[in-house]
Amino acid sequence: MRLTQKKIEEIMLKILGEEGLPLIKELAAKDNISEFELANKVKKDIKVIRKMLYLLYNHNLVSFTRKKDKIKGWYIYYWTLLPDSIKYSYFKMRREQAERLKEQLSEEKKELFFVCPNNCIRLNFDQGMDFEFHCPECGELISLDRSEEKIAALYRQVKEIERELAQQKQEHKEENKTQKKKQAKKNKNKPLKKKTKR
Ligand SMILES: [Zn+2]
Repeated sequence: MRLTQKKIEEIMLKILGEEGLPLIKELAAKDNISEFELANKVKKDIKVIRKMLYLLYNHNLVSFTRKKDKIKGWYIYYWTLLPDSIKYSYFKMRREQAERLKEQLSEEKKELFFVCPNNCIRLNFDQGMDFEFHCPECGELISLDRSEEKIAALYRQVKEIERELAQQKQEHKEENKTQKKKQAKKNKNKPLKKKTKR
């Protein structure tokens, strides 16, 4: 899976909120960037930046190294995104989305829904019963909702995510294969150690 800027942002914004966007952009642009440089670039207080970085760290999306500043005597932290971990989070998020949509889909398929002609509300059968099939907002008689369109839309969404996930799995498999091949080649070129024959 290619880790695009959009995917990075989708994952990290959920943790930091919109406020974190400039920081995310800086982190994505450069490895081993010091927290002071980050604070400088996004024009925020170092305390705010640190708080955000620790949040990301707690979600295992960034790592750090620290170096002692020889002159000032304190430690400076350098931060780097963890692409594999972000990929994994993205994969997990999409899988959960697909699960939720599937649940919704099966609800839609097994339940009847009713709508108000004035579009105030949409109720399931039990709720409709409670209001004697009248809209609790405007009092109009509610009618059976044609949910075919909704079901089709949900179905399309599920399929789209599933296709994306399958593609990711396939890409991951291929990446592994090339890596194994490379490793095998390396081993072949290595001077052989004495092997005991059968
Ligand atoms: Zn109504």
